[in-house]
Amino acid sequence: MLSVSEVEKIILDLVKPFDPAIDSELLPLSQAIARVLAEDVSSKLDFPHWDNSAMDGYALRYADLEDLPELKLAIAPDEISAGISRSRSLATGECIRIFTGGMLPNGADTVIMQEDVEPIDNFLYLKTKPTHGEYVRHKGQYIQAGTTLVDSGTRITATEIGALAAARCPQVRAYRQPKIAIISTGNELVNLDSSQPLQAGQIIDSNIHALSALITQAGAIAIPFGAIPDDLESLEKVMQQAIASTDMVISTGGVSVGDYDYIDGLLEKLGAEIYVRSVAIKPGKPLTVASLGKVLYFGVPGNPVSSMMSFWRFIRGAIAKLNGANSTYWYPQFIKATTTQDLHAQGRRETYLWGKLTYEKGNPVFQPVSDYSSGNFISAIGANATAVMRVNQTYVSAGDEAIVMFLNG
Ligand code: AMP
Ligand code: MG
Repeated sequence: MLSVSEVEKIILDLVKPFDPAIDSELLPLSQAIARVLAEDVSSKLDFPHWDNSAMDGYALRYADLEDLPELKLAIAPDEISAGISRSRSLATGECIRIFTGGMLPNGADTVIMQEDVEPIDNFLYLKTKPTHGEYVRHKGQYIQAGTTLVDSGTRITATEIGALAAARCPQVRAYRQPKIAIISTGNELVNLDSSQPLQAGQIIDSNIHALSALITQAGAIAIPFGAIPDDLESLEKVMQQAIASTDMVISTGGVSVGDYDYIDGLLEKLGAEIYVRSVAIKPGKPLTVASLGKVLYFGVPGNPVSSMMSFWRFIRGAIAKLNGANSTYWYPQFIKATTTQDLHAQGRRETYLWGKLTYEKGNPVFQPVSDYSSGNFISAIGANATAVMRVNQTYVSAGDEAIVMFLNG
């Protein structure tokens, strides 16, 4: 059986990222949040655009303070607030009232903040000597025109939106969102919108909704193909449709070794190359990873927590890579946290124990749940992290540190 890290590598090697020339679109900046930038955006402007004051105070020429018997300057009969264009130069021995964001007048190179001075009549008395260049934001200090502002492959957050707006980019080129098919398999499954009472043995197809939500959170578009009975003909038809019309397919159920587990056989019939059939992970051991041309196919287990774990551990990163996001987005994020309870694992497979990660006085603390059955999706309500027990690691004592993987983000 393949290890978790082997499977992660196989999957990421199989993913061919979108082509920015084909799989991208121009978007208004207001619609670009959470999308992946498909080209480097360089700034046409220097930031700051001109030397300006970082404080409310007085602009002065540092050299004027040299050899003064008393720290005293003449106050120019004028003031510079933000938005006023520079209209005057500073004469020798002169200073001028300036406000944050105000353009530094010609000749000035230093700002002293108003708390450090006392204006009396037309003179300014400095309580301390400023350092040369203090409180001046220099033209081009943050970034110079022509330099890359945001790299291609960045997932756009509020900070990039702000910077791109400041750089006058009303539109950005982003990768299109991947379309991800979801197929639920199982004779027992009933659609959520069915009005019929559940018959004995039936359950609602919850996976299609949980996976749709995970796909949306990952920045992709979920295309649900519904709950398909364990019937070779219907399954083959739907799998073909999904493969032909989307960028990636996830099916749930039917990948174990039971009599109704048809997925691998059908994939072979459809000409797929199968790379993974199971992983040394708990939950989520049955996992089929196959490729059909450009489409990557994931057959995940039907047990609700198992299917989500396959997504969190493997599929989320694959979607990020497919979507053109740079490699920092391809891997789950881990943190060390103190566990509040003993953690147990059998040690044969890498074991994921879900629970709640909180912070006590700034220190990460992990609280496991009490029941780790992969069918018990109720136990996963509120979970935001999962402790990871490596192969051969069977015990972490309460109060000790565990490795914890973030589930969100
Ligand atoms: P399977 O992987 O098909 O053997 O299913 C494993 C378990 O997960 C069974 O108890 C199924 O009833 C349950 N299951 C399968 N598919 C779903 C689904 N789409 N939603 C909720 N539970 C499911
Ligand atoms: Mg089944």
